[in-house]
Amino acid sequence: MSRGAAGAGECRALMKRYFGHDAFRPGQEQLVDALLSGRDVLGVMPTGAGKSMCYQLPALALPGLTLVISPLISLMKDQVAALEDAGIPAAFLNSTLDGDAYRAVLRGAAAGAYRLLYVAPERLEAEAFCGMVSRLPIALVAVDEAHCVSQWGQDFRPSYRRIAAFVESLPQRPPVGAFTATATAQVREDIIRLLHLKNPLCATTGFDRPNLRFDVIQTRQKLPQLLALLARFRERSGIVYCATRATVERVCEELRGRGFQAARYHAGLEDGERRENQEDFVYDRARIMVATNAFGMGIDKSNVGFVIHYNMPKNLESYYQEAGRAGRDGTAADCVLLFSPGDVQTARFLICNGDEAEPMEESARQELLLRELARLDRMVGYCKTTACLRAYLLEYFGEMPPKACGSCGNCSGPFQERDITTEAQKILSCVVRAERQLGYSVGLQLILQTLRGSRTKRVLQLGLDRLPTYGILSQTSRDQLQRWADRLLELGYMIQTPGEYPVLRLTAAAGDVLFRGKAVTVQEKLSLEPEASEVLSTAAAEPPIELSDDLLELLRALRTRLAQEAGVPAYIVFSNATLQQMAARQPRTAAELLAVPGVGAVKAERYGHEFLTAIRRWCTGEEASY
Ligand code: ADP
Ligand code: ZN
Repeated sequence: MSRGAAGAGECRALMKRYFGHDAFRPGQEQLVDALLSGRDVLGVMPTGAGKSMCYQLPALALPGLTLVISPLISLMKDQVAALEDAGIPAAFLNSTLDGDAYRAVLRGAAAGAYRLLYVAPERLEAEAFCGMVSRLPIALVAVDEAHCVSQWGQDFRPSYRRIAAFVESLPQRPPVGAFTATATAQVREDIIRLLHLKNPLCATTGFDRPNLRFDVIQTRQKLPQLLALLARFRERSGIVYCATRATVERVCEELRGRGFQAARYHAGLEDGERRENQEDFVYDRARIMVATNAFGMGIDKSNVGFVIHYNMPKNLESYYQEAGRAGRDGTAADCVLLFSPGDVQTARFLICNGDEAEPMEESARQELLLRELARLDRMVGYCKTTACLRAYLLEYFGEMPPKACGSCGNCSGPFQERDITTEAQKILSCVVRAERQLGYSVGLQLILQTLRGSRTKRVLQLGLDRLPTYGILSQTSRDQLQRWADRLLELGYMIQTPGEYPVLRLTAAAGDVLFRGKAVTVQEKLSLEPEASEVLSTAAAEPPIELSDDLLELLRALRTRLAQEAGVPAYIVFSNATLQQMAARQPRTAAELLAVPGVGAVKAERYGHEFLTAIRRWCTGEEASY
């Protein structure tokens, strides 16, 4: 049966017609083909790569209903709205529907009114649902966020464990497509095993997101840094992630006090407020969302222009997922992490005191803990590296990227090599002298306090203020001193002992620096101050296209109005990328409009006239206002 080959061509036409995309992205065609030929698939693709297309196209091409199982209740409404806007009948079933609405959808599904039905995994046990489904031809079961089935991933959902039995209970087993952005081998194996995928085609696409620009700023002055960044990202909407609810409250308040349109989101808020704030953000009424990691799992907003982490997350999986919410429409976006050493303690605390998803054996718990601490180390490594940030991330996810991307903060960043031999000698000799005076070794923080001439109780009690090295680096900031000490640890001139209270010890190699004048250098970022970072230019990830800002503004305003009239978020009408293309190409006819990437037939019919009119008026210089 060569349905696959024929199907792909047909699918490309469907993709152009309904979604306006001209070509498949990496992985999509293979996955679509396999599903059309009746084979199970596992698609591992980063956020924003276009996983939905892989099951939406087969849903259009295959006879019968496609079930999409998703844990993201908040996402369903938007996804269904986007499908309907593209002219594809779809619906969702979850706990937000009242009894009447729920029954109406069940009736609609039974009557064959939809191509796709989104369901929360809990539904698979509801009798009315199962009864309805068993009488229908099911073309395909798509499992979104499939890593939720694995205990090793984040976001484990016990209800995902029932999907396999549900699929097997259907009168005829449809192909199953599993999709996730979690790349580790362990999670992948779990998905195949626990969802009972049969000889699945596995497609893993690259995790690189070329339009994202990564940067890390080491600072203890987070608020001023944040304000400087927000000033730089003026027009864009974005997310500020904080580690705790209290930080969300504080940062949100500070921003509002300065006139920013900021909303907040964390698990401690009432459902109603959470929903409202989220909508404000999605509908562009609030430009900035200040949130804990509770926010975002279901946010399909494609025009997020930046993601700033006010605190370091616990691991790179979380970081990449959260940062990846920026730039889903393919336009240039910034992902900036504000790092201070205190973040490491917070993350460690959260790991050691976290809730467990489910009860487990003590040995398993210990193993999990060690694994998480190891992941934390890699996260800290990302914050401290002076090498390419993108390369660091991609290597973590198992790829072999080029050594330098040329666009991340470290590649383009103004780094310079600095000779710190004298400072290194001061630090190392302070360690020696403290140990000699006390008769035992002390920890790094105490040494740094001594060097800076701090008058803390501990320093005075131990008499460290009588050391000749007391205060000899008092002009150096804590951050900088910490970085130099990190460098000495990295070069192996001193080590920190393992255990709960690590202390510093010099190694034999330290003698080279102390007595034989061996040079020590460090790469330092030139601009660490907010003022300076403001002038850093944002690298554009896309090939530059000539565009007229006025026209773009005009089209944006038109989009806002049309979206308001239709009661959908602006990006559902057209994405930023599509508007940019439209402004650049200035289509005059319906055919030209259809050739713009992102414009499908249904949308061209629905919105084309207004956009073409606006473009024509603009080109002829007629005034128009929206
Ligand atoms: P994911 O689920 O992998 O995070 P989505 O399915 O939400 O990603 O897709 C992200 C964006 O990419 C959407 O705006 C979608 O319209 C766009 N997209 C998907 N496939 C293509 C394609 N073949 N060409 C251009 N854009 C695409
Ligand atoms: Zn780089």
